[in-house]
Amino acid sequence: MKKKAYVNKQDCVAWGSCAKICPMSDINVDGISANINFEKCVGCGRCVKECPASVIQLKEV
Ligand code: SF4
Repeated sequence: MKKKAYVNKQDCVAWGSCAKICPMSDINVDGISANINFEKCVGCGRCVKECPASVIQLKEV
């Protein structure tokens, strides 16, 4: 089963470290929260480990 990353946008602090570490460059961080391009995400989990606010989770799709 494949996994994809999801952001809890309500709790995201838009720190931006997830976007820097993503190998697919599929995370865009605006002034409010991170936005993940679901189509490009390969579910590697790097953003999950990187997030200082623990607002990203991998979910099975
Ligand atoms: S799981 Fe990997 S590919 Fe998907 S958004 Fe996070 S760092 Fe990028």
